[in-house]
Amino acid sequence: MRKRRVILLGSTGSIGASAMKVAGTMPDRMEVVGMAAHRSAQKLAQAANLFRPEAICLVETTFLAELRSALTYRPKLFTGEDGLIELSTLSSADLVLVAIVGVAGLRPALAAIDRGKDLAIASKEILVMAGEIVMNQARLKNVSILPVDSEHNAIFQCLEAKRTAEIRNLILTASGGPFRRLSTECLDQVTKSDALQHPTWKMGQKITIDSATLFNKGLEMIEARWLFNVPMSRVQVVIHPQSIVHSLVEFVDGSILAQLSHSDMCFPIQYAVTWPDRVPTSLKPLHLADVGKLEFEEPRYDVFPALNLARKAGEAGGLLPAVLNAANEIAVQAFLADQIPFTQIWKLVQNAMERHSNLASPSLDDIIRADSQAREFVRSALV
Ligand code: MG
Repeated sequence: MRKRRVILLGSTGSIGASAMKVAGTMPDRMEVVGMAAHRSAQKLAQAANLFRPEAICLVETTFLAELRSALTYRPKLFTGEDGLIELSTLSSADLVLVAIVGVAGLRPALAAIDRGKDLAIASKEILVMAGEIVMNQARLKNVSILPVDSEHNAIFQCLEAKRTAEIRNLILTASGGPFRRLSTECLDQVTKSDALQHPTWKMGQKITIDSATLFNKGLEMIEARWLFNVPMSRVQVVIHPQSIVHSLVEFVDGSILAQLSHSDMCFPIQYAVTWPDRVPTSLKPLHLADVGKLEFEEPRYDVFPALNLARKAGEAGGLLPAVLNAANEIAVQAFLADQIPFTQIWKLVQNAMERHSNLASPSLDDIIRADSQAREFVRSALV
């Protein structure tokens, strides 16, 4: 039985909370040796005091004194973006769980791969922006990339011991978000609080808005393309309002395999940690008869342009996925600040993609530059 020595990047978010729940329930399989947070000093101290990892990192140093005084032991303390890299390359760790929102997880993830550590990825940005670089590096260093996003974790489970050549389609399920049935006219009028009401998952604000626009699914399409090494044309989406089937794989012989469970991120996190083993859990078992009904429908591509934009970015590759991701992040911030209507999010992303000239096989620096340019482009479109 293998015990994983895990670094949590993004320990104070909702994925971090689920990861600590998993660590708490199976101490013989998972030990937290490092933790990082962006600026939540109190929350980081609380979690660290509980799990006592040997090192922690607070990226923003404003509340460093507060962190120090709230700690009941003396871990190694790192700060800043460089601190994240130092934490991710800690010699005692063998698995880094990346659950940081945004681009900040990219360099630490690559540094961890370089040191031969496996990655459990919950942050979409890493593979959306630099999927080719990350996956090539992982192959080179012979490390495993374990997806934690529920959809990709489901596909990962369905694909065990299967070859890419046997895949006809990867089918990502989408809840459809709170506006699944709304008309285009009504979508112009929706408010922030409407958009923050997700029907099946409890998540942070950014990803909840992304679920309402379907950009979340768009980012996941690009992610899946890199994770499982299939062309974009083989990545499909189906709306599944119950969020019980977390994704499916259609094989060349016409059979479809699916992974089902309640919508609780502890399931995919636990599997990423115990893989390739399955271990008993106290998580709520799924009784299909209680669920009763599982529905599937075609996405409304014309009403929710995010899926087509993501397909376009994924097919083009190069810098476009990073541009889509960055433009969307700024547009979502603007929507949350009541600066733009909901439907403008799609428009701003589309404009940013149309304006940006693409580049094949970009370097990491090219990608980071495209990311800042797209952010700047959307910001200047707002004023
Ligand atoms: Mg997901």
